[in-house]
Amino acid sequence: MKYLSDIEIAQNNNIVHIREIAAKLGIEEDDIEMFGKYKAKLPLSLIDEEKIKQNNLILVTAITPTPAGEGKTTVSIGLTEGLNKIGKQATVVLREPSLGPVFGIKGGAAGGGYSQVVPMEDINLHFTGDFNAVEKANNLLSALIDNNLQSKCCSFNLDPRTILWKRVIDMNDRSLRNIIIGLGGTANGIPREDGFNITPASEVMAILCMATDFEDLKKRLGDIFIGFTFDKKPIFARDLKAENAMAILLKYALKPNLVQTLEKNPAIIHGGPFANIAQGTNTIIATKMGLSLSNYVVTEAGFGADLGAEKFLNIKCVSGELSPKAVVLVATIRALRHHGGAQKDEYNIPNLEFVQNGFCNLEKHIENIRKFKIEPVVAINTFSNDSYEEIDFIIEKCAALGVQAVVSDGWAKGGNGTKKLAEAVVKVVDSNKSNFEPLYDWNSPVKEKIEKIAKEIYGATAVDFDKKAKLNLKRIDRLGFNDFAICMAKTQKSFSDNENLVGRPENFTVTVREIEIAAGAKFIIPILGQMMRMPGLPGTPASENMTIDNEGVISGLS
Ligand code: ADP
Ligand code: MG
Repeated sequence: MKYLSDIEIAQNNNIVHIREIAAKLGIEEDDIEMFGKYKAKLPLSLIDEEKIKQNNLILVTAITPTPAGEGKTTVSIGLTEGLNKIGKQATVVLREPSLGPVFGIKGGAAGGGYSQVVPMEDINLHFTGDFNAVEKANNLLSALIDNNLQSKCCSFNLDPRTILWKRVIDMNDRSLRNIIIGLGGTANGIPREDGFNITPASEVMAILCMATDFEDLKKRLGDIFIGFTFDKKPIFARDLKAENAMAILLKYALKPNLVQTLEKNPAIIHGGPFANIAQGTNTIIATKMGLSLSNYVVTEAGFGADLGAEKFLNIKCVSGELSPKAVVLVATIRALRHHGGAQKDEYNIPNLEFVQNGFCNLEKHIENIRKFKIEPVVAINTFSNDSYEEIDFIIEKCAALGVQAVVSDGWAKGGNGTKKLAEAVVKVVDSNKSNFEPLYDWNSPVKEKIEKIAKEIYGATAVDFDKKAKLNLKRIDRLGFNDFAICMAKTQKSFSDNENLVGRPENFTVTVREIEIAAGAKFIIPILGQMMRMPGLPGTPASENMTIDNEGVISGLS
């Protein structure tokens, strides 16, 4: 049987005008700002704090993933279709895709199969320009910094060697990681070392996703820490009077984007920080918008639950005063085989023994979710090569832990394949068993917060702090940032900081190499292992398969 590709399914779909989706949310056409016929910006005035408290937030996260992704976005969209099918009013709230993965290995991030958001080409490529706005705001600050270094009248005497702020671009481009700028003589700036991060790793992206309104956005942009003067005085973006101009560039980017699912249910897509190096979840504004407009909001946090869900709960939910009513843990048989010892060429071959051995990974994630006093539901995202005995094994093992595990078949069947999952989620929500509690108090000491995450969530026995990390801790203390949240940067491939340790590693220590500061986002970023803020393209980039025809129809995007 030949499956249609994601883009073929999306293009065959009968997309409706965005005003019809707005109408489903009770919004008049006059109240949305349309970007063409199928995309619109939602005004912040639609946010309603009372409704947010009454409606139900569902987080979709996953077990430790293989590089292909285990289907969180696909399940989030599928579950939203399923909830609507069983008569609930549900909206999916997601991150915007980055062009890096689109042209690299992973491909787009608009779901897959019969669980997609559309127009998928637009969502994956530029969308409504939010990433471009983030990039410009970020790079405006860079230009202001270099201008200040050059300035005759108003220089702060910034020590260029201490400047932490980098330029960004939304592209996998490893040759920009480390660059020298300002060459060419006195008229062309002060030479210094700089570099590019990918846009989803920008602090401006993190700030956009944490901000609650324009005032908060400006305050946070002003709080960005840049570096020190030669006499060791800290310099912030507000010292350069940068925050207002940066906020101007984010005028539209701060407003959430409304699009639709294949089954014409509402989808709000907004902001896109990566989950290994940033907080990995859409804007707080988009989540609040969803909760203001519908009874159920299904949202995704990136990579495995040790990264995305931990940060979603400890950072976003605390800051945004959100309280999820259920967590859906996506598991695939393929990934469990991987955690049970299967090699790459064995991922797609049924093997009960591998699944039995790999179950420990899912079990640890279940235990972790319960540490936040939230009830998990396991969604088994099925692939055509999964065997009944492997699926039954997971369902029984989960049942023994008191957790419902349900097959989710949204990729192949849309909402018709996720009704059971939707019912299981509603059951957990209606049971009122979830009573969200964060894992740590933001006011506790920095080291204690980091150790708590490493020990309780990763299962580490201890945390080592390298010399540089120890110096960074002192700097954080000196700058008065001890009460910030912790945004861990760690490989997504393992609970530990060693990507080769699959399953449920035990008796390991993790090493904090250095600790970065995102003062505007109000978190500090301990870096575990070698984390990349600017990815590279693979040998055969996905871009090679893409084209556009004379009618403007795009193909080859996956
Ligand atoms: P995540 O959000 O966890 O990274 P995605 O939902 O983006 O994962 O899915 C990753 C890729 O796997 C997508 O290309 C999607 O089409 C594909 N995929 C997801 N679920 C299935 C499935 N059940 N069968 C086949 N392919 C799937
Ligand atoms: Mg995803």
